[in-house]
Amino acid sequence: MIKPEAVAAGHSGKIIDMIIAAGFKIKAMKLTKLSKERAGEFYEVHKERPFYGELVAYMSGGPIVAMALEKDNAVADFRKFIGATDPAEAAEGTIRKRFAKSKGENAVHGSDSDENAAIEIAFHFADSEIVG
Ligand code: UDP
Ligand code: MG
Repeated sequence: MIKPEAVAAGHSGKIIDMIIAAGFKIKAMKLTKLSKERAGEFYEVHKERPFYGELVAYMSGGPIVAMALEKDNAVADFRKFIGATDPAEAAEGTIRKRFAKSKGENAVHGSDSDENAAIEIAFHFADSEIVG
């Protein structure tokens, strides 16, 4: 996902360009806005964390761009490509180093395992919205 503050700042096109240039193939993509309920469900694993309420408010606060991406080793490569959660710790050249404003408003989300990627792709897309 391209997160709300990055979409609002007009960075979606640049981020999509970087994703494609890094060798990821876009299999599905949509601009959408998550309700508080849907954002809460997406981040359910963080329910007990102190930042959960703020995270849900932020992620439901404006449009996001959701994508399903394909690449060999996609999950690990995408995590490396976006950089650390906190932009202060993100490597040079990463999406978060370039676009994140803070540890909370950090421009993009990336799945953390193949299993969660499958769950998160199904969260955003019907099978008919994913190209073969
Ligand atoms: N987050 C936050 N404060 C924290 C840790 C995380 O606001 O101390 C937010 C941030 O937007 C992050 C998201 O919660 O991207 C999910 O956290 P996670 O640890 O899964 O980081 P990610 O997988 O996105 O790098
Ligand atoms: Mg995570």
